[in-house]
Amino acid sequence: MSNTVTNHTTSSSVMNIYQRFPLTLVKGKGSFVWDEQGEKYLDYTAGIATCNLGHVPKQVQEKITEQLDTLWHCSNLYTIPMQEALATELTKNSCLDKVFFCNSGAEANESAIKLAKKYAKDKGNPEKTEILTFTNSFHGRTGTTMAATAQEKIHQGFFPLTPGFHYLPFDDRESLAQIDVNRTTAVLLELVQGEGGVNPASLEWVKQLEVLCNKNDILLMVDEIQTGIGRTGTLFAYEQFGIKPDVITLAKGLGSGFPVGAMLANEAAAKSFHPGTHGSTFGGNPLAMSAGLATVETIMNEDILSEVKTKSEWLKAELDDLKSTFSSIEEVRGLGLLLGVQLAFEAGPFVQKFREKGILVLMAGPNVLRILPPLTTTTDELKHFILVFRQLLTESREFSL
Ligand SMILES: *Cc1c(COP(=O)(O)O)cnc(C)c1O
Repeated sequence: MSNTVTNHTTSSSVMNIYQRFPLTLVKGKGSFVWDEQGEKYLDYTAGIATCNLGHVPKQVQEKITEQLDTLWHCSNLYTIPMQEALATELTKNSCLDKVFFCNSGAEANESAIKLAKKYAKDKGNPEKTEILTFTNSFHGRTGTTMAATAQEKIHQGFFPLTPGFHYLPFDDRESLAQIDVNRTTAVLLELVQGEGGVNPASLEWVKQLEVLCNKNDILLMVDEIQTGIGRTGTLFAYEQFGIKPDVITLAKGLGSGFPVGAMLANEAAAKSFHPGTHGSTFGGNPLAMSAGLATVETIMNEDILSEVKTKSEWLKAELDDLKSTFSSIEEVRGLGLLLGVQLAFEAGPFVQKFREKGILVLMAGPNVLRILPPLTTTTDELKHFILVFRQLLTESREFSL
């Protein structure tokens, strides 16, 4: 990793938290970003699955600009029409009934976790205090969502962790028998683990989990922060798993880059929140809501989802083709335009090679390339990406011979 990133420890006044690539981006449009020197890059990170409509999408820019001229913030002491409108749009297009708005993914998961605890109390089950999550999950960086994240490296240095979380192996049917159904109030999972390696769950396991939850009054909570807002080819990934979650959480793609988070719940669960139980000063503010509303309306009205399916099928087929040619590719996996390519070697240097060729991609664990094109990427851009990938694989094969 050290050759691909720099830490501006000495010169920067910004806290040294991120391992940053040696690149300063100053402009974006569509699938492209530009650095300070005016170099152009094809952005297949989409701001980590956030700029789903590409950079500075016109439809969202117009709505935010309109709102900038009208009202920025008024707090949740007053009704916010844009908030009502986005909540309606989200519930209309999902199996959930009520929405709480916040500003990030971690906050959305915090809200879900609080709701799950209160739900058990309200149902007269005070002994149900525990929440089940899965190995290699990622649920956020706050005290509690970090504890929900079942990755040791993320816990290091932060003990004692928030109690009440139990971890089981991801996508493992056998281990579900270990759930203490009398003490568990919720299960929180990603249907395709993003940060954890682009690992899709199997339909059978997810279905089994749903049955178990329904039977034991355990809330099925799906973290759609990375998979949601069209990323996998449906507005929400759960639609493709044939399940009806009780709670879902959103952030990343929801505001096209404007910070917006949301926790959606069905009527039965949502009842546990009422005035005095939860809140946020900024959550659902008019500017954020205008970004969210324009984003969701654009995705639903402009046939973007069916295009995601077509593009995903094409890209997967091309990647599978590369896999059959190059032994350095071990596996291609993922859903929609959340794709992972497992390499036989470290992915870091490969990310750097892509960058030198003008393409930005991400990693998901040491050996996995994570490819997150904007949902609006064009066929030509996809073809260019595959062309460059083939070149790099050829070069690396020649190099290793
Ligand atoms: C990014 C992410 C989060 C955390 O979101 P933040 O906005 O960074 O707090 C939580 N869950 C999943 C699945 C994510 O991908």
